[in-house]
Amino acid sequence: MSMHAVASLMHAVESFARAAGAAHRAWKGPAYEYKDVPVLLKDVRLVDVEEERTRAEPSDIKLENGRISLVAPAGELDSRGLKVLEGRNRFALPGLIDCHVHICGIFITALPGISDFRWLLRQVYLNHRAQLQSGVTLVRDMMSVLRVSLLFKSLAEDACSGFPRVLCAGPMLTVEGGYPPYVPRDQFYQRVLGGPLKLELAGERDAVSWVDRLAGAGVDWIKIGYQGALFDMARTPLSKPSARLFRAIADRAHHHGLPVAVHHYWLQDLKELLELPFDTLEHITEDGEIDARTLARMAERGLPVTSDLEQSAFAHEPQKFLHMIEEGKSNLLPRPRGDITRLLHEVAAGQDIYGLKPRRKIMDLAFVRDLVFQKMRNLKLLADSGILIGAASDAGVHMMMGILPEELCRMTEAGLSNAQALRSATIDAARLLRVDDVGRIKAGYRGDIVLYENDPLENIAAVRSPALVMRDGVPHTPLDR
Ligand SMILES: [Zn+2]
Repeated sequence: MSMHAVASLMHAVESFARAAGAAHRAWKGPAYEYKDVPVLLKDVRLVDVEEERTRAEPSDIKLENGRISLVAPAGELDSRGLKVLEGRNRFALPGLIDCHVHICGIFITALPGISDFRWLLRQVYLNHRAQLQSGVTLVRDMMSVLRVSLLFKSLAEDACSGFPRVLCAGPMLTVEGGYPPYVPRDQFYQRVLGGPLKLELAGERDAVSWVDRLAGAGVDWIKIGYQGALFDMARTPLSKPSARLFRAIADRAHHHGLPVAVHHYWLQDLKELLELPFDTLEHITEDGEIDARTLARMAERGLPVTSDLEQSAFAHEPQKFLHMIEEGKSNLLPRPRGDITRLLHEVAAGQDIYGLKPRRKIMDLAFVRDLVFQKMRNLKLLADSGILIGAASDAGVHMMMGILPEELCRMTEAGLSNAQALRSATIDAARLLRVDDVGRIKAGYRGDIVLYENDPLENIAAVRSPALVMRDGVPHTPLDR
């Protein structure tokens, strides 16, 4: 790419950032009425996912400075000086937590060109809003262009932004020829403008230097890619970080107080990983049943796992996602909507999965189509072994945002109870992410609350239609209602 092209790209990014900033300041949506205003949320039925019961009597919740300050039986709190919100006996859960997303996912099967900057950041903005509208008040971004994820993380600090709060890992740390194979090596202009997306580490010194830079930039997690084979029948090998390199990354991350998340899919990789130091296992093993010995070692080590059933279901149920897109539930702009729709139609027609120019195969459909069922069986085994599970949509890889409610429904199809599924997106997710002021409706916790018309403990499908999403004490009504 010529220097002229780089300069015009930088100009485009700068003008977008200026326009977005101005629009953001000028926009005074209904949420701003609640900024820094104490609120009384009246008459809600508290759903207690730990006790697995819903309080019979309604409660009132007082929120101040973005936090829950008091929870009391309805009618006991003085409403003077408070902005009152009527809960109308709806069911209240803590704001949902999506433990693994790609907030900058743009769902396209070719590398973006300069003209794509006209819509690209807007799509990221829509992605992020779709998450909040689905009831999610905190996400962990598990691989995005570093500066873009940090930008959205800082925009999301404003409780009125319409976004969930963000924890982020920035780029994936891997080796040459390692996972993810379908993400091309970073381009020079991309590194200059947005920072890294995929770091192919040359050795231990390189690892230490990059972890130091990421820690300095402000990431919350470090993520390592660890996958020994492609998604094909031949199980074509992929490179993995050596044990020495892996330890160098993890030790340096821990030196900075940063936890380490590891991408995996295959059982053999999981067995190797159990000898290595890290903090969360991303995805559920999908190419075989996790044996009792491995489960016992995971439990002994206290290794938490994030789920990802729904993103695997696209290969099995493309029609479901096509239907969601047709219904307008996807928040997708025309270009990515066209790409994802084409991909889903190809899958529906039994074709393999291709991506990125030049068009090349990413997955053998015959290999990936039924993996979701192995994942569902393994999820049940993990849950039965007492392993901490955090709900995750992995949205942004090839799926639209806002599908965590679908993930929770799918978890119950796998055999988890409604309460287990709800815990995985609230209290258990908070533990997994090591955030101690979210995941409960309790004095001192953040004012993250979602209201539903029906009790999700009784009927998990209730989570599909939140009636109100409150983040840091600021209410947001889902726009599609
Ligand atoms: Zn992912």
